[in-house]
Amino acid sequence: MERTLSIIKPDAVAKGVIGKILDRFESNGLKIAATRKMQLSRADAEAFYAAHSERSFFNDLVDFMVSGPVVVSVLEGENAMKINRDLMGATNPKEAEAGTIRADFAENIDANAVHGSDSLESAAIEIAFFFSQREIS
Ligand code: GDP
Repeated sequence: MERTLSIIKPDAVAKGVIGKILDRFESNGLKIAATRKMQLSRADAEAFYAAHSERSFFNDLVDFMVSGPVVVSVLEGENAMKINRDLMGATNPKEAEAGTIRADFAENIDANAVHGSDSLESAAIEIAFFFSQREIS
């Protein structure tokens, strides 16, 4: 059994597709072990994406992630990390396979609807960034 972190990003929240995206997870065997809608502070977004701090798009990414509320969730299940990455589709929605969350709900690489942990190591760090043990069940 694995756990991974999902973020429904501000573009998808603003579009009103929180329910549709959470349904993709539940319909594909993932349990929502924790979830919360919240507004990230700039410090939150900078810390969460610290690994990208040297990238040219870092400031744009932080601006976008604080532009409106997000929904952070812990997804649980067998192969949860990979299943979530497959459901998300490619980082650039224009390259995302048909039927993936990014193909269906995202406009471009700046506003690409969802985040998902890309390894089990990142998942553990990212889950602990947002949730305490007693919030996850
Ligand atoms: P992910 O794991 O599929 O989300 O992709 P990455 O870890 O490579 O990048 C993290 C996030 O940075 C992506 O989801 C995008 O929101 C953003 N990002 C990546 N590449 C670019 C880019 O070239 N320009 C901009 N504006 N944002 C980018």
